[in-house]
Amino acid sequence: MKQASTFEVIAARCWNLLNEGKPFTPIFVVGTMLLFYIQEWGDPSFWQVSGISFLFTLPLLALYYHFDFPLLLRNYLWIPFVGYLILFGDVNLLLLAFALGLYYFFTVFFWGTFYYHLRIGTSWLNFTRFWKLVLKNSDSTSGNAQEQMPKFLLILSVWQMFMTKVETGSAVQGLAYTLFLLGIFAFSWVLHRYLFDWQPDVKETRTEAVDPIGIPSDRVIMIVIDGMRKERFHEADTPFLDKLRKTGTEYAQMETVYPARTVVCFSSMMTGTYPKEHGIKSNMVWKLGIKVESIFDSLRKAGKKGRLLGVAHLIDAMGDDVDSYTAVMDNDSVDKGILENAKQIMEKENLDFFNIQLISTDQTGHSRGVLYDEYIQKIEEADRLIEEFVSWLEEKGYMDNTTLLVCADHGQADGIGGHGHLDEGERYVPFFMCGPSIEEGKVVDDKHSLISVAPTVAHLLGVPFPDHSRGSVLTDALKQTRKEPHNESESHRIFTSS
Ligand SMILES: [Zn+2]
Repeated sequence: MKQASTFEVIAARCWNLLNEGKPFTPIFVVGTMLLFYIQEWGDPSFWQVSGISFLFTLPLLALYYHFDFPLLLRNYLWIPFVGYLILFGDVNLLLLAFALGLYYFFTVFFWGTFYYHLRIGTSWLNFTRFWKLVLKNSDSTSGNAQEQMPKFLLILSVWQMFMTKVETGSAVQGLAYTLFLLGIFAFSWVLHRYLFDWQPDVKETRTEAVDPIGIPSDRVIMIVIDGMRKERFHEADTPFLDKLRKTGTEYAQMETVYPARTVVCFSSMMTGTYPKEHGIKSNMVWKLGIKVESIFDSLRKAGKKGRLLGVAHLIDAMGDDVDSYTAVMDNDSVDKGILENAKQIMEKENLDFFNIQLISTDQTGHSRGVLYDEYIQKIEEADRLIEEFVSWLEEKGYMDNTTLLVCADHGQADGIGGHGHLDEGERYVPFFMCGPSIEEGKVVDDKHSLISVAPTVAHLLGVPFPDHSRGSVLTDALKQTRKEPHNESESHRIFTSS
């Protein structure tokens, strides 16, 4: 399987500018205005007028960049737009219709059809479903129509109003506009202060060392089925994963972090702390690299080796500790390719800790929706592939004293498999461990956080916690005494049955 090329790493970053809602809004507003007035480009006064009037939109752009208006809060975005219509009443309906057309062209055709067809082989007819998904979608991407529409309709209207005023030399209602902006700011602040109350609790203290309890592992293999929504996993027919779940310890309330974006979640799992501390706050990484130590640094300190095999975006956070695979690949074969790649890496590097990200489930959720059968099929495929992979690891002797950890980084909500704001289906993820160090047949019902991954892996492998780790070691899963295998074959076959 091909590695992500430098071109892909950069292309993925550029795509994030359009894919993440925050940078998208200003880019889309400017792009729409320029395309709408394409015939005026030759006229220098157009650039002057549009440039000066654009300055009036900057406070609004900043305000809408700062405030997320997550989930139900997005409904309140129509109030500033309606307020604008009442106060100023100045709209160019043709411009707004053009913007709406362009928005749906971008999301439904460019992204939902053209982009997915080229990148992962989705059908050319994907728009017939994708438009429904975009309308419902609630995540922090540009595909959140109900958030983006009231934002860009207002900003474009304001820009157009000032363009007309500057062009005709009529008085700018400076005071009214200033009060209008202050009103939106106060409105946004109050909404986020009092209604935005579903973020996960944050642990204030650092990871505490656990007395030497449990049995150390020689190795930890972690398989992250990206975006696997918990109740959809339970609905799927996954005999192998079910067996692992039942023979090991399952965490029934394992909570992801906020915002539940892939690069954010992986950074939290690998550092043991929150986005605020490791610095990765969305998939759009402005400043490359996490700001704190990761489990990979901990392993190095102890002379051990760990790797993360994942998509190109993860390089933005964890740099050289990532073996990236190309995400430009048919979605029906990508996970198989990843695990083949993982075998090669394992044979070459004999890793102490190996974190492998499977992406096909997540990609199907994004391109076809999570509430359709295709999504379940992908989870079932992952089950077969993981079984085959673990069986290979056992044959090669890599599982002898190994802890196997299977989880998702976040769930996915209705719509375009959205995740970020912790809508229904995103918050709690499947999470279970098994192996000689792990309690058998145990279900832990207490609430835990994915920030526990790094300290737990560190504890199992006997290496220091990453320096800013806050997660607690998942002690409920740790077995106190070793059960000696009855015979040779059992010692090699604790995970697979054949
Ligand atoms: Zn993800």
